[in-house]
Amino acid sequence: MDTSNVNELEQLGSFEISDQMLKLAQKNQRKNIFLNAGRGNPNWINKKARLAFNRLVEFGVQESERTLSQADLVGCPEKEGILKRFKHFLTAETETDHFLLEILDYTDGLKIDNEDLVKELIDGVLGNNYPVPSRVLKNSELILNQYLESTLYNGTKLADQTQIFPTEGGTAAIVYIFQSLKANKLIQPGDRIAINTPIFTPYLQIPELADYELVEVDLHSTEENHWDLLPEEIDRLNDAKVKALFIVNPSNPGSKALNSNALAAIREVVQKNPDLMIITDDVYGTFVEDFQTIYAVAPYNTLLVYSFSKLFGATGWRLGLIAAHKDNVFDRLIRQLPEKERAQLIKRYDLVVLEPEKLPFIERMVADSRSIGLYHTAGLSTPQQIMEVLFALTHLLAGDSDPYIETSRAIIAERYKELFAALQLPTDDGKENSKYYTLVNIYQLAEERYGKEFRHYLATHFEYMDFLKTLAEKEGVVLIDAVGFGAIAGELRVSEANLPAEDYRLIGHEILKVLKEYHDEFLAK
Ligand SMILES: *Cc1c(COP(=O)(O)O)cnc(C)c1O
Repeated sequence: MDTSNVNELEQLGSFEISDQMLKLAQKNQRKNIFLNAGRGNPNWINKKARLAFNRLVEFGVQESERTLSQADLVGCPEKEGILKRFKHFLTAETETDHFLLEILDYTDGLKIDNEDLVKELIDGVLGNNYPVPSRVLKNSELILNQYLESTLYNGTKLADQTQIFPTEGGTAAIVYIFQSLKANKLIQPGDRIAINTPIFTPYLQIPELADYELVEVDLHSTEENHWDLLPEEIDRLNDAKVKALFIVNPSNPGSKALNSNALAAIREVVQKNPDLMIITDDVYGTFVEDFQTIYAVAPYNTLLVYSFSKLFGATGWRLGLIAAHKDNVFDRLIRQLPEKERAQLIKRYDLVVLEPEKLPFIERMVADSRSIGLYHTAGLSTPQQIMEVLFALTHLLAGDSDPYIETSRAIIAERYKELFAALQLPTDDGKENSKYYTLVNIYQLAEERYGKEFRHYLATHFEYMDFLKTLAEKEGVVLIDAVGFGAIAGELRVSEANLPAEDYRLIGHEILKVLKEYHDEFLAK
């Protein structure tokens, strides 16, 4: 592709444009260091859980040798006495062993049978059995439920009423949800679904695909309203024709979490439109203090998507999950389908279960994730499930003021501050701002610094992508075009996730430098 042509670029998705920008930036004209603030991949990782995982593998191998040991071929762990041997193995002299011992105290408090738990953890990390039950390992679900309650519900107690399906990242969670909503006739071509734009691109792209043919109802947030979703936008859901709401909260790229007014509005909406299906993607929830998910205020109507990728720096592990209330609208809507469609669904699932009509929606997602026929070998790999559990436990043992979470927030807040200082713009320090991403509006910046006439010149003489491209080509700075997310032309997304704080100051300066060069050209004309 010829990247000199911005018109062609505008045909691509935001992340594909970014790949093109990377190439330009790496050989930038000024020979600046190349700064990629495009992607949301964090540049930190959680150490504690990874070391604990390693230690479990060591113990697991030792346990396996007990039953059979012929060179590299060893047996499988036995449950009998495993707890005692595990405690004996742990020395408590290292932080990692101390953490593992603390886990046992904590799970004792949850009334988990620790012998059973240790066997689950050890078999899990070794990966010596198919995931059974396929949806989620038994004790793992209990622990993950505690994690979700502690980080996302803000005091609402739902841990013992929630079912979890761990998935290959939030990405697979999204795919499985769309797939099963369609397969179970809960969304059909022509249905209206609401989306809070600007939004993470897949939520815009998937519904438009020929497979789904959904009609989007755009609940728009704007910069003037600090990217808040206003109650009057939420009121548009009071319409039985709107079948579903897909929402990212805190939003990406707006980075704002719903405040208590918005959550109250949602609570009212599901009373007036009780069939509304809500899918909330709370991947950034832990970056907001006192965050509360929609699932906590409307559990009956909501599926929750979570990912360990961002907080724990674990994008390569592919760790996410779907959570659903035991009593939910998805199951009810399936029961209420017309006779003919119910019969089709019975036929669809009776290959793998005895009472297909009673199969809950969450189990249908598990079955659908493996094209039904392979339901018995479905489920997230057990090492991945245990990694999720260990990440969750780092938080559960740290308690409400988890220093790891505090540090992750402080890091992105510092980067945000540096960027805004360099851009000479006021910061938004409201509690709901996760600061994980920032949207910079080039046209607005142009007007603020050089006046309306220059803004007009910039908007009419150049394609909106021109600035992004010049920034990459000349300065070596890569940002993401937010038009692909449903933002207006001129909005660029800066990710605060993946560069050291001082680089954000540089990025701010380089944005202003490029703007000044456009302005010099404008003056010369
Ligand atoms: C990063 C991101 C995801 C993807 O999470 P993975 O677990 O890495 O697949 C999902 N939703 C949103 C809004 C994201 O920003």
